[in-house]
Amino acid sequence: MPSEFDLIARHFSRPAPNAVLGVGDDAALLAPTPGTELVVSTDMLVVGRHFHAHADPYPLGHKALAVNLSDLAAMGAVPRWATLAVALPEADEAWLADFSRGFFELAERFGVSLVGGDTTRGPLNLCVTIMGEAPAGRALRRSGARPGDGIWVSGDLGGAALAVRYLAGEIGLDAADAALCQERLHRPEPRVVLGDMLCCVAHAAIDISDGLLADLGHILEASGVGAEIEFDRLPAHPVVALKRADPLVRRCLLAGGDDYELCFTVPKERDRIMQAVAETAGVPLAKIGHVTAEAGLRLLDGQGREMAVVERGFDHFAA
Ligand code: ADP
Ligand code: MG
Repeated sequence: MPSEFDLIARHFSRPAPNAVLGVGDDAALLAPTPGTELVVSTDMLVVGRHFHAHADPYPLGHKALAVNLSDLAAMGAVPRWATLAVALPEADEAWLADFSRGFFELAERFGVSLVGGDTTRGPLNLCVTIMGEAPAGRALRRSGARPGDGIWVSGDLGGAALAVRYLAGEIGLDAADAALCQERLHRPEPRVVLGDMLCCVAHAAIDISDGLLADLGHILEASGVGAEIEFDRLPAHPVVALKRADPLVRRCLLAGGDDYELCFTVPKERDRIMQAVAETAGVPLAKIGHVTAEAGLRLLDGQGREMAVVERGFDHFAA
C-alpha cells in the first residue's frame, strides 16, 4: 500500500515556479504582486452529485480546476496558485495518475502552480481552492452593472445541459452530437484570458455555472437593475441551435447549467472594442441585450414580444 506521502510525492508534487514555497512544508508561501488584491475562490466536486463514481479521472482532473479558473475569470482576475483537497476511497494509482494529468495540463496552460492540499481516505470528493490577483480596486463584482450597459455572453450555451439530459435518457441524440455535447460537459474551457481582459472593460461579470437566467439574475439583483434580452441573439451550442424548437432544448439554452461561459455587462461606448477583445481572447462574444433601470428580466422574441420565462435555473438544494 502506498502511503499518503508517496501518493502526494508521485501525483501532486511539481515545481511551483510562481510560489516562494510550494508542496512539502506545513504551508505554502506566496508573494502576490504589489498593487494587486488576492482573489480567492473554492469549488468542490462531490461524487454522486457532480460526477459519477466511475467517471473518467482524466477529464475530471481538468474539470476540478476548470470550474475554479472560471470563477477567477468572472472576477477579472489572473489565476496563479491552487490547492487541492482530495478524499479517495482507496489509493488507486492509475486513477490518481490520470486525474493529476488532467489537472496539471490545464494548470500549466495558464501558469497556475499547485502549492498544497490535503489527501485523505473517504468518499470521493475533490476540492480546489484557486488564488489569483487583480489590480487593487479593479476586480469585477456582480454589483457593477449600470442601466444602458450591453449584456454579453462568451462562447455558446446549452451544450453541457443537453449532455446531462441525454445521459439521463430524456432526449435522444445521434452519436456525433452526443459526443459534442459531452465534450462541453466534461471538459469546459475556462475563459481565463477573456476574464483578464474584461477587468478594464466590463462593469460586472459572472460565470454561467447554474444557467444563463439564474446567473444573469444574480448580476441584476446585486446591481439593483433589470434587463431585456433577446432570445434570437443567444449564442446556442451548435447541437442546441439545431434543436431549438424543442422546449427541453430551449430550457438547456436559457437555464441549463455547466456552461462555464462568462456573462458580463459593458458600457455602450465600449461596444466597438469588443470585436478586438473577442479576437485577442480567442472566443466569440455575443451581445444579447441590455441592462434596464427598471427591475426584472424580460426575454423578448424576434418580434419584440415578451416570452414567458419558465425555469430560472438550477438550485443546488432542490430535490
Ligand atoms: P500536514 O499534516 O502538515 O497537513 P500533509 O501531510 O497533509 O501535511 O501534507 C504534506 C504536504 O503535501 C503539504 O505541503 C500539503 O500542502 C501537500 N499536499 C497534501 N495533499 C496534497 C494534494 N492532494 N495536492 C497537493 N499538495 C498536497
Ligand atoms: Mg494536511
